[in-house]
Amino acid sequence: MKRILITGAAGFLGSHLCDRYIKEGFHVIAMDNLITGDIKNIEHLFKLKQFEFYNHDVTKFVHVPGKLDYILHFASPASPIDYLKIPIQTLKVGSLGTHNLLGLAKEKNARILIASTSEVYGDPLVHPQTEDYYGNVNTIGPRGVYDEAKRFQESITMAYHTYHGVETRIVRIFNTYGPRMRLNDGRVVPAFIGQALRGEDLTIFGDGMQTRSFCYVDDQVEGIYKLLLSDYVFPVNIGNPDEITIKEFAEEIVKLTGTDQKVIYKALPIDDPLQRQPDITKAKEILNWEPKTGRSQGMKLTLEYFKSFSSKELQKSEHRDFS
Ligand code: UDP
Repeated sequence: MKRILITGAAGFLGSHLCDRYIKEGFHVIAMDNLITGDIKNIEHLFKLKQFEFYNHDVTKFVHVPGKLDYILHFASPASPIDYLKIPIQTLKVGSLGTHNLLGLAKEKNARILIASTSEVYGDPLVHPQTEDYYGNVNTIGPRGVYDEAKRFQESITMAYHTYHGVETRIVRIFNTYGPRMRLNDGRVVPAFIGQALRGEDLTIFGDGMQTRSFCYVDDQVEGIYKLLLSDYVFPVNIGNPDEITIKEFAEEIVKLTGTDQKVIYKALPIDDPLQRQPDITKAKEILNWEPKTGRSQGMKLTLEYFKSFSSKELQKSEHRDFS
């Protein structure tokens, strides 16, 4: 049985990856320090003997007994509200944490895939973003702690590949949504759905003309799965190129939830990228991958998940306010 370590396992993407690798017959060693992850996301796996969980902070030395075939490094805060609250941890998990996991991969002779992000492109001056675009990042802005940690993460990963011969893979993840997103993580999908379900106005930041391209979680997981199995060591964009303005997206949510909520406008957060769309030519060519789930289908599934929350849980959610 192949053994895989997944860091950030109790998070949104990490927990879906745990499910996928269990389904594929792997022994899954899940690790998370639960700062932004939620144990509920993986609770259903605890009864399985091919699943184990370590509550551990990967910025400290990481030890895993026995052999390891693969490592997926997905531990990191991943929403702007989190970078503002825990900037130092964000920097540490992308840098020190990645260093520890690369060291573990070298020691165990394991293949490691690290989760990078479209944020390495910053507020992009090239559109859509291709992997050979170097990016436009403000190092000292509020997002700098995440963006620069992820850029460092890519550098150290390539260095371990080049100098130590470690088998590495780098995925650049574009906005991904689906069940198990944290209701209060401030990201636009749970923010708008939460507001609509609570009967509040939807808060659009800026004029709403900024764009994003949303990928359903199952498509993202499939792309990551294929990348890990491929022999391609350079970064690969995984995301859905279907681009939409935030204003149009708010209108879609109002329609989808069948509410008659208004939209209200708030200040645009500092360094909020004005446009974002992945160029997925590489993923198509190298991995034979492209997203299959349209936004209307994916959003329906996501809404169903959030509808299962009690009204008390819905009330607990907070949202970002930069005004
Ligand atoms: N956004 C918004 N209202 C919200 C939350 C987010 O208008 O309540 C905007 C945000 O300013 C950004 C976009 O939606 O332009 C996506 O934000 P998110 O935090 O989901 O992801 P990221 O900015 O990292 O792509």
